Amino acid sequence: MVIQLESQQISMSSPFDTIVAPITGAENAAVAVVRVSGTEAWEVAAKVFQPWPETPTPRFALYGHFITGDDGLALPFAEDHSYTGDQTVELSIHGSRASVQALVEACLVAGARMARPGEFTERAFLNGRLDLTQAEGVRDTVEALTQTQLRQANLLREGTLRDQVRAIRAEVEAVLAAVEASVDFSEEIGDLDRPVAVAQLGVAIQELDRLLLTQEAGRILRRGYRIAIVGPPNAGKSSLLNALLGYDRAIVTEVPGTTRDFVEERIDLGGVPCVLTDTAGLRETEDRVESIGVERSRRVAEAADEVWYVVDGTVGLTPEDEASIETIERPVAVIWNKADLLQPDRSYRTYKTYSISALTRQYLDLLVDHVKGKIDSTGAESVWINDRHAPLLHSSRESLDNAAKTLKVDLPFDLASVHLQAALADLGQITGETAGEDVLDAIFRNFCIGK
Ligand code: GDP
Repeated sequence: MVIQLESQQISMSSPFDTIVAPITGAENAAVAVVRVSGTEAWEVAAKVFQPWPETPTPRFALYGHFITGDDGLALPFAEDHSYTGDQTVELSIHGSRASVQALVEACLVAGARMARPGEFTERAFLNGRLDLTQAEGVRDTVEALTQTQLRQANLLREGTLRDQVRAIRAEVEAVLAAVEASVDFSEEIGDLDRPVAVAQLGVAIQELDRLLLTQEAGRILRRGYRIAIVGPPNAGKSSLLNALLGYDRAIVTEVPGTTRDFVEERIDLGGVPCVLTDTAGLRETEDRVESIGVERSRRVAEAADEVWYVVDGTVGLTPEDEASIETIERPVAVIWNKADLLQPDRSYRTYKTYSISALTRQYLDLLVDHVKGKIDSTGAESVWINDRHAPLLHSSRESLDNAAKTLKVDLPFDLASVHLQAALADLGQITGETAGEDVLDAIFRNFCIGK
């Protein structure tokens, strides 16, 4: 919600100063909630809401009037028992822009300052209420569009990844402690048992590999699975896009070559967020405008995770189609359309083939299942890593590999120590223990105001 504030106060921010922002959406609604959080949250509430008791009972809602003229509820939370970990009050008012703006304004006058994007969650992190992966889980939960995204966001928010990363850290820390002890006290405790230490690192590496296997599913989940629909003119590419969307987005005509540019749509196929692109087709053409479209189609196909090559089932796959398919360097599924007119031979060569009808929508569920299969094998109950976690996990894996190598041969322990510490630093960046201000900034500034 963009709020024009006449009395915006610019103040130095201490970790516990009192901040305010609406925590509900920007649209008009029956009710909106404004959160005030910080050492003086209740004092601010007392100035904008009456009657405010001398000692409010935490988590008991109060009904009263706001000095803005509105009436509604105030819900106090005590320090250490709120979302941020700071003293907090959540004020429920009527959800018009005007009433929210007036209340936020009144809170600013009463001593709060406007919260930055993500600042409530950043406070929760700084107060140790959640780690960085859980903070990301909060963001993903709020932004989830599909059920699969929501399930993954819940796992992240509940601390599944945090626990796994911390378990790996604990294993690495144990090896590091043994290595360092044998450097400092080798006379007392004897030399490090190298094979045991290497085996312990092997366990940690296996755990990292298991997490890294979820990278592809995580990427699809967050960025969307990109499918380029290509094929000869009139095969039914636009009809297929429309049929999957459930409404007419692309132009369908009987004149070949009508989709001159491409149409891109986000769509939920069986819980998998997909980006479907209907292209001009890959047919060679004399028409200049159309040939630009064909060139673009090629580029779209190259950037896709998968290409759906649609053919008219009554025509079948021509040598030209085969030549086109050969040029596509992405996984290709051949889709025999117009199954309502004819039952085509589905056993065509090595391509994955589907026989469907865009017109009658028959067998479209086969395509949905096909897409679901892209992430189903990764396991719905395991948490999938994101693009921030992946490079850190890769890098810590490499460090552990190097540490194991130095321990296997007779190299000085100091070297192993350095690698182990590097691995720990990377793992700590995932959960936040070793994350610098730049990392925190990059994460929290991506949040919306009020999160
Ligand atoms: P595009 O050029 O590949 O995008 O093809 P269109 O989607 O514009 O469809 C070309 C023609 O085929 C239109 O007249 C559609 O109504 C028709 N068509 C598309 N899909 C089907 C189908 O499954 N069955 C039948 N019978 N006709 C279809």
